[in-house]
Amino acid sequence: MKIAAAMARLPLRAGRAVALWFDNESGAPASPDDRRIDWLRVLPFIGLHLACLAPLAVGWSPIALVVAALLYTLRMFAITAFYHRYFSHRAFATSRALQFIFAVLGAMAVQRGPLWWAAHHRHHHRASDTPEDLHGPQHGFWTSHVTWFLTKGAFATRLGLVPDLARYKELRFLDRFDILVPVALAASLFGLGETLAAFAPGLGTNGWQMLVWGFVLSTVALFHATFTINSLAHRFGRRRYATRDSSKNSLLLALLTFGEGWHNNHHRYPGSVRQGFFWWELDLSYYVLRVMAALGLVWDLRPVPERVLAEAGR
Ligand SMILES: [Zn+2]
Ligand SMILES: [Zn+2]
Repeated sequence: MKIAAAMARLPLRAGRAVALWFDNESGAPASPDDRRIDWLRVLPFIGLHLACLAPLAVGWSPIALVVAALLYTLRMFAITAFYHRYFSHRAFATSRALQFIFAVLGAMAVQRGPLWWAAHHRHHHRASDTPEDLHGPQHGFWTSHVTWFLTKGAFATRLGLVPDLARYKELRFLDRFDILVPVALAASLFGLGETLAAFAPGLGTNGWQMLVWGFVLSTVALFHATFTINSLAHRFGRRRYATRDSSKNSLLLALLTFGEGWHNNHHRYPGSVRQGFFWWELDLSYYVLRVMAALGLVWDLRPVPERVLAEAGR
């Protein structure tokens, strides 16, 4: 009887899950403490991983690889410089227009909307390594790396943690309908591939191939590089500062994530625009932000205080 009742409810549950793929506010939010994985809701995420086998069917071309690498670079910068340093930590200032442009570029990374991302991240800094920290290392590697954000309780945007961002209607829109930008990107890549197939057949690409490399593979690589900061950067590396959490510094992760690997530095002073505190700590996102500041696109870059730098020498 129980199974029959569950089967009868399945279409309704599936309908609700599908509605939530398109509109994050279409259902009542689950309790933040609900740590069960929402399997129906995360089917697109699982599907993206399965689609990583598709190059076997669509092949590859130099142009598809170049587009995949460029999109990784652009979106990693949008995530680290804007979703993290700007939206989560307000480590510099910019105009409302550029704030929106980078919110869209960040949304292209398929890591949900800027408010959702920033709220969870602010919570991580407040609760680092406590039981409330959803991706704390004490929950195990896989939870800290990926499964924490697949749970029912993690889907809602905790607006109370981002009141400064929630007053912008355009950001609220991107956050509520966070699938729109990724779908537009995927469709554009398909269109680009088909256009190149028609007008430059010598490049050896087509719509499906461009979709698989530019969207699927590039996005999944971007996912897991980003997630290493929650998983590996709280496990492997050196500790310069005796912070209350387990954060570490790692050159390898800093290269992969354009500077985010200096995670122990970052936990010591999250408000600074730079995470590599010294010239030898490569921090690509910081260098690009310096160029953008020279061009007048961003300003008020918050430095690392002298006392924090002095602590490092001790
Ligand atoms: Zn951390
Ligand atoms: Zn942070």
